[in-house]
Amino acid sequence: MTSNKEIRVRFAPSPTGGLHPGNARVAIFNYLFVQHEKAIGNNVKYVLRMEDTDEERSTLDYEASIIDDLKWLGINWDEGPFRQSDRTSRYSELAQQLLEKGFLYKCYCSEEELEQERSVQVKSGKPPRYKGKCKNLTAEEKAEKEKKTKTCTLRFDVDKFINELNNSTDLLTYHDLIKNKEARSVMSNPLHVIGDFVVMKQSGTPTYNFAVVVDDIDMKITHVFRGEDHVSNTFRQIMIFRALGVKQEDLPQYGHLPMLLAPDKTKLSKRSGGIPIHEYKKMGFLAEAMFNHLAFLGGGIKILDETDEKNLIAESFEYEHTASSACVYDVEKLRHINAKFINKIDASEALKLLTRDMALNDDWKKSYDEKDFIGIVALAKDGARTLLEVISNIELFMPYTVSEEEFLDTNSERDQIINILYDHGVSSGSLISGADWKNIKDKIVSSSTLSGGKLFKTLRVILTGKKDGPPLDAIMTKINNDIIVERIKKAKALVG
Ligand code: GLU
Repeated sequence: MTSNKEIRVRFAPSPTGGLHPGNARVAIFNYLFVQHEKAIGNNVKYVLRMEDTDEERSTLDYEASIIDDLKWLGINWDEGPFRQSDRTSRYSELAQQLLEKGFLYKCYCSEEELEQERSVQVKSGKPPRYKGKCKNLTAEEKAEKEKKTKTCTLRFDVDKFINELNNSTDLLTYHDLIKNKEARSVMSNPLHVIGDFVVMKQSGTPTYNFAVVVDDIDMKITHVFRGEDHVSNTFRQIMIFRALGVKQEDLPQYGHLPMLLAPDKTKLSKRSGGIPIHEYKKMGFLAEAMFNHLAFLGGGIKILDETDEKNLIAESFEYEHTASSACVYDVEKLRHINAKFINKIDASEALKLLTRDMALNDDWKKSYDEKDFIGIVALAKDGARTLLEVISNIELFMPYTVSEEEFLDTNSERDQIINILYDHGVSSGSLISGADWKNIKDKIVSSSTLSGGKLFKTLRVILTGKKDGPPLDAIMTKINNDIIVERIKKAKALVG
């Protein structure tokens, strides 16, 4: 159904680290939602916002790397990037309004006092919450505190919210678009367990919950899709929204996406792939493979192929069908999709990616003429699962030294094979690669007592320096003869 009202979503990463698969999934989810809504004729905007309220851990480098990774994935936005640190005066202005209305109060408690209160509560098995020591100070007590401490935090008065804005009930509820939707139940939280929380820190900067709400109001956000680790924040945020005068029916709609888990259902760790997206790029993954693997998680997409185009995926995306239970992020699966993409693109497209993303050595390109080099790329990408594997296959065609270690680890017949190759290609100067390859191969086969498998393994190591790679015949018809001659000379020198 289309509507004239502008639909506005945001992706709001904290630049305290790189863009990990979990955040990238949220960014992609918002992107698919926007594209889908656009496709059905709605007016939609995607806002990018950097949530840098954590002054110690946020850096401009992380911000830049998040932006680069989003662009690499092909996610574009309509507005921003906005930065919360540029909006401090706006947070102070609205905090002042809430202070005047009595929704906030000044808290002079020191970190030590609060820590002590928390540890007593935890020891006695109670959830830690602020007991409200500074809530009902008399004017004299306040003056006394102010003289002593100078700085204070501003806390939200949950009781006032309950009494004035929540029909005097302790339970706060909202409908989640994703979480719990199967049960069609509402998300609820008894407010007395939350306790009065800080919205402005002693430094005069906002806490995450306050900045988010002020921004979501000012940026007119209508739908919030984010990780389910923010469900508990949602209750605090709704209280702030309401205190700032936003009506219940004008709150954004929330949808919380399940966390990504490793295949063994444990939390995603570095080892199971919880690393920044640009690390995947370095390892030779294609942006499309990464995008599609993350887009397909949770099943908001009707049956399509994993290598389908982004716009097809967006068209068939329906957030209502996203699973609310945890979904598995599997690097092996990603590798499999990547292999399909590498297979799908043509050699010149692969060459473009190798140059753009993998800084392919320029000298390599120059050592063959353009058409031959494209032929080598076509062969090298066959069966490769990453662009790094493509590079390692191209390397076989380049003048590099045979690895002594691999070379020695063959068998005793190798000297005889080297001598035949040497006599043919070096002493008498005949070609070994290209059209002559078949002759020399037949000669070696007929004079060797080795079985086929062993013989070809030995030959492969002598001629390419590696145990694996594309089919040897294919390599030998494309490789530059001078490179082969050099390799044979080196091999001969190694065996004496
Ligand atoms: N900055 C938060 C994060 O990176 C996201 C908060 C939100 O989307 O409301 O987890």
